[in-house]
Amino acid sequence: GMPAAPPPVLAPRRKTRQIKVGSVGVGSDSPISVQSMTTTPTTDINATLQQIAELTASGCDIVRVACPSADDADALPIIARKSQIPVIADIHFQPKYVFAAIEAGCAAVRVNPGNIRKFDDQVKEIARAAKDHGTSIRIGVNAGSLEPGILKKYGKATPEALVESAVWEASLFEEHGFHDFKISVKHNDPVIMVAAYEMLAEQGDWPLHLGVTEAGPAFQGTIKSATAFGALLSRGIGDTIRVSLSAPPVEEIKVGNQILQSLNLRPRKLEIVSCPSCGRAQVDVYTLAEQVTAGLEGMEIPLRVAVMGCVVNGPGEAREADLGVASGNGKGQIFVKGEVIKTVPESQIVETLIEEAMRIAEEMGEA
Ligand code: SF4
Repeated sequence: GMPAAPPPVLAPRRKTRQIKVGSVGVGSDSPISVQSMTTTPTTDINATLQQIAELTASGCDIVRVACPSADDADALPIIARKSQIPVIADIHFQPKYVFAAIEAGCAAVRVNPGNIRKFDDQVKEIARAAKDHGTSIRIGVNAGSLEPGILKKYGKATPEALVESAVWEASLFEEHGFHDFKISVKHNDPVIMVAAYEMLAEQGDWPLHLGVTEAGPAFQGTIKSATAFGALLSRGIGDTIRVSLSAPPVEEIKVGNQILQSLNLRPRKLEIVSCPSCGRAQVDVYTLAEQVTAGLEGMEIPLRVAVMGCVVNGPGEAREADLGVASGNGKGQIFVKGEVIKTVPESQIVETLIEEAMRIAEEMGEA
């Protein structure tokens, strides 16, 4: 039959130059990629590679590792070689580690000009080394570490201050003929962050890496990141994203992927359509939705599963989904592609949905 039309998006991507972070394309010709950062000491090579493997399995495209000491820099060659996904070395303070990371074969190096003393004098050498090794750069401006001169001029980390710092550093790399970089201008306040990225997007064709920095614990950080990224991505701004949470990095990947999937910027996988429940509910919808979500976690096929508390909207939503249940009177009507295939007692709803999901996944795998 006809190939399905791509799902609608809210805005076309902003046109950017194209760069590579290792094997991953970054820029408007490439899908938006999701990043996280390891929390293991980089010197613990096995633990770091183990965490990178977990991140890769959860859908991480690019991983960043901290490099605060010479021992960390020494660990980079093996990590860069053995990681399944491109590795970015995160460098503050010590320019010598920038060169070490480039020579170690890292796909990219994140530099924070505000934290590297006399950074501007070293851009030429950094640009040359990066070019020689095919390494890309992220200019990572951060509200918490603005250059003193700019901080003095603006009084605090305003959008203008963040953008001025970023544009200045970008111009230095470009003066030296180096163009393979992306930029971030992170702030912990989503309103300032969004304003900064909007302003930056107007001033050049750089790919942009989105992040709300120090966004907080999982609940607050998820919401801050989703609202800020949503505002920007819905206008086509953003080429890589990192959700910063005070939580295990795999959680950051799940949130990042969910943000992109919600905006049709990444193919949807498992989607649970569950009702909020109300006075009509005849089953415990919260528990049911949680159990179904947990039972289906990790499903790789696009599957919409409806979990509905009663028969008012239940059958309607359940019919629209690939798979669903509409509950009532201690029973659940199980729908597959709009047809009631069976009615089971409440205690068997979860296992039946999981069974049917596995069966659909198998059929799709064979198709
Ligand atoms: Fe309430 Fe039924 Fe709607 Fe759920 S599906 S919110 S229980 S009316």
